[in-house]
Amino acid sequence: MSSTETSSGLPASLPPWHQANWQRLSASHHAARLPHALLLNGPAGLGKGLFARALANLLVCENPARQGVPCGDCPSCRQVAAGSHPDIKYIEPDEPGKQLKVEQIRGLCGQSVLTAQGEGSRVFVIEPADAMNVAAANALLKTLEEPVPSTVLILVSSQPQRLPATIVSRCQKVAFQPPPADEGIDWLAMQGVDAAVAGRLLGLAAQAPLAALAAAEEGLLERHDPLQRDFLALAEGRGDPLALAQAWKGQPPEVLLGWLVLWLTDLTQLAASTQPPRLFSTADPGRLQSLAKRLDSKRLYAFLDRIQETRRQLARNLNPELLLEGLLLEWARLVRRS
Ligand SMILES: [Zn+2]
Repeated sequence: MSSTETSSGLPASLPPWHQANWQRLSASHHAARLPHALLLNGPAGLGKGLFARALANLLVCENPARQGVPCGDCPSCRQVAAGSHPDIKYIEPDEPGKQLKVEQIRGLCGQSVLTAQGEGSRVFVIEPADAMNVAAANALLKTLEEPVPSTVLILVSSQPQRLPATIVSRCQKVAFQPPPADEGIDWLAMQGVDAAVAGRLLGLAAQAPLAALAAAEEGLLERHDPLQRDFLALAEGRGDPLALAQAWKGQPPEVLLGWLVLWLTDLTQLAASTQPPRLFSTADPGRLQSLAKRLDSKRLYAFLDRIQETRRQLARNLNPELLLEGLLLEWARLVRRS
């Protein structure tokens, strides 16, 4: 077995939840039936970009192992490892969060008619594909309508709904799903994350393990926990909602609202079931549990709806500080009434 291969036939760079997609695509490649355009899609933080890189490597490898992983040894694999393979091109925005411009895609269209320099395919990885502006998407559509043999386009997107339907319909869709919680926790433990907090990090990261790992590295829990403590204190009749709204000003409102949804979801689940749910958003489940017992679950659900409504208002550019103030005032009132 080479060093780039695991016993399961998955390249060592890929996490276990990629197994099924990898087996399917490497088998298609082995049978010379890989479509000329793929759309890797699913929530952020699942490693779709890693998958695209490993697949690009497989497509140029001159001697793939029988299990369908790159050999790691041939001249092509060595060029990939050095980051200089002439037949693999990564098309990304100049800066994260910026658009992909039409010139970047036109460059691709010009290159894709050239013959591969190695023995394998020419591969273009476009990530994130949803960053293409309208002109760029139109230029890509032309390439998709006139496929060039032995050229493979790999589009990567966490927001495929932003892509034009004409592009999506010309790609084979490869969907990525968050793994079961146990698998995510095991993987995080292997990356050195404390098992005691891995479940909470996954909860805060919508079960996406790579996002949970990034959250661990940036100290997310240290930022999250004091905010939650203050929010729960309001429900316990302590603290001032307006002062809390002031204190929350430094946090991005969309992140705060995401956390509020999570906290209220945990509270409603606790209020509704005798068995405590397994993943908690909190380091102090006992406190959440005693609060859930005191609060009327109908009111909790109604407040959850109010948070969702506030998210929509935020998307319409209403003043985030006023929105949060209103929400916290309501939370403090709701608790006194129940
Ligand atoms: Zn190779």
